[in-house]
Amino acid sequence: MSSGAPRGQGQEIRLPRGASLSDFADRINANPGSLVQEMFNLGEMVTATQSCTDETLQLLGEHLGFEVQIVSPEDEDRELLARFNIDLDADVDQERLVSRPPVVTVMGHVDHGKTKLLDAIRSANVVEGEAGGITQHIGAYQVHVEHEGEERAITFIDTPGHEAFTAMRARGAQATDIVVLVVAADDGVMPQTIEALNHAKAADVPIVVAVNKVDKPEANPGKVRQQLTEYGLVAEEYGGETMFVDISAKSRLNIDGLLEAVLLTADASLEMLAPIDGHAQGLAIEARLDKGRGPVATVLVQKGTLRVGDSIVAGNAYGRVRAMLDENGHPLAEAGPARPVMVLGLTAVPGAGDTFLAADDDRTVRQIAEQRQARKRAAEQANLRGRATLETLLEKIKEGERTSLDLIIKGDVSGSVEALEDALVALPIPEEIQLRIIHRGVGAITENDVNLASASSNSTAIIIGFNVRPMDQARDLADRNGVEIRYYTVIYQAIEEIEAALKGMLKPEYEEVALGSAEVREVFRSSKVGLIAGCIVRSGLLRRNGKARVVRDGAVVAESATISSLKRFKDDATEVREGFECGLTLGGYNNLQVGDIIETFEMREKPRV
Ligand code: GDP
Repeated sequence: MSSGAPRGQGQEIRLPRGASLSDFADRINANPGSLVQEMFNLGEMVTATQSCTDETLQLLGEHLGFEVQIVSPEDEDRELLARFNIDLDADVDQERLVSRPPVVTVMGHVDHGKTKLLDAIRSANVVEGEAGGITQHIGAYQVHVEHEGEERAITFIDTPGHEAFTAMRARGAQATDIVVLVVAADDGVMPQTIEALNHAKAADVPIVVAVNKVDKPEANPGKVRQQLTEYGLVAEEYGGETMFVDISAKSRLNIDGLLEAVLLTADASLEMLAPIDGHAQGLAIEARLDKGRGPVATVLVQKGTLRVGDSIVAGNAYGRVRAMLDENGHPLAEAGPARPVMVLGLTAVPGAGDTFLAADDDRTVRQIAEQRQARKRAAEQANLRGRATLETLLEKIKEGERTSLDLIIKGDVSGSVEALEDALVALPIPEEIQLRIIHRGVGAITENDVNLASASSNSTAIIIGFNVRPMDQARDLADRNGVEIRYYTVIYQAIEEIEAALKGMLKPEYEEVALGSAEVREVFRSSKVGLIAGCIVRSGLLRRNGKARVVRDGAVVAESATISSLKRFKDDATEVREGFECGLTLGGYNNLQVGDIIETFEMREKPRV
């Protein structure tokens, strides 16, 4: 049976990674429903708005005769910016290039002294009068040293470890010019030493080895040199190209020597020039939500100059730079290449490794941010599912993470919402968990509620529907964003489950799986069988003897009904599918009205993960 989707003849269509069947349908002028049907024929159940994997999109393309090209987020971003006439790779005026400081990341095995070293470098450089711990952690800092008669600056990324480095690389961003590989001389080369080394090599970043803890009697710096030869890092004194510097971060020994080596390595192997003109571009290194100041982000300017008052966009966040602070908390009016600054004034918190750029006006940055947001939502659909569930909450608690459970309560009457809220707040809760009710209200679950749940600060909130159901759009949105909605009809059960979850004892349970829904078009009364409803199946299917509930204007009016008879015209039917009309009688509810929605579902045992 043909479902009416157009057939291509090898035409190429471009789809962003994570596109849905609706997006696909848009491109080929088809009805999304027909593509759902095609996928069904190919053996996959995919809804129209659900984000698809690359394979699914390719499979469907092949089946319909289109050449599908999946566009990566980076390509897409480039295309997006091009629409605003922004070209990140545009050639710059060579004459207006300035030499910029190198940007350094410190990596190495745990406990080999990365944090101590970053502290030592920072405090060795504290300008007089600023001593006494005014410096604050903003994710990066700059130090100034005398080098061959010149004052030179070096920028250090102040989040030791591999995560920041890889998070940035995963986004295609490279913040680092040089890696300082810290190896404790008493411990030698360890697994994370090798890991760090491989990261640096993969990124093609030169390495300076800091042989740390040489103050310890058992230190054996020669052994570190010898061990690293096996991994291709040969010390200069052995005829190689890598600088090894013996230091003690704790006793602040030879920190100068290390900084000197960083500059020598930078000068030997890198072209460190950057344009100082033009809109600033760079990377967000670290960002958080500050209680008093709102979103704050530390950005590293890589090109151009960032000024207070500039409109900027960083990942999905945008805004106007209200103020800039350096690592000493001093306000700055402008920041040039390789300068890390803390920026105030963004509307949201960008991610570490997100690129930022300044543009002409507020409107441009807002539009770029909004389009990225829309794209991100689409791309995340596939893997977002089940992000916050009572089960994942449990896992977090098990891992010893302090966490909070955010809830949104929607109910049919205000009395039950209040009762539920009171009871939940009064629950004895383990210390590591904070229970927050971020919203409550009467009525159906709306898109607003779902949006609020996905915007919840720490993770996604869980929505509790007490005798209410979501509107269709809200249900789709929740599906897409991986927001969990739990339905209850008795307060006691809601409390019991949440309490169980909080105590880490959530029992394996049955899960409701929606089968379909039908709308009541007509109601007849028969003396023999009671109320007969003439319905049209709106989605999925209806099954005889299936469990059903009745929803009227978004509120549940009957919970445990059964479809006791089901007919197509005059014949008994076991199933009726989407788009077809049927007649039915409900067991357990005798007050159906025109316009009621009958939802059918099955209880399946929930697989435990
Ligand atoms: P990280 O995990 O690499 O950040 O390591 P830390 O900087 O936290 O240091 C781990 C431990 O080693 C701490 O107890 C430090 O005090 C100690 N440590 C760091 N550098 C030195 C050093 O140069 N000499 C000595 N003796 N101990 C050090």
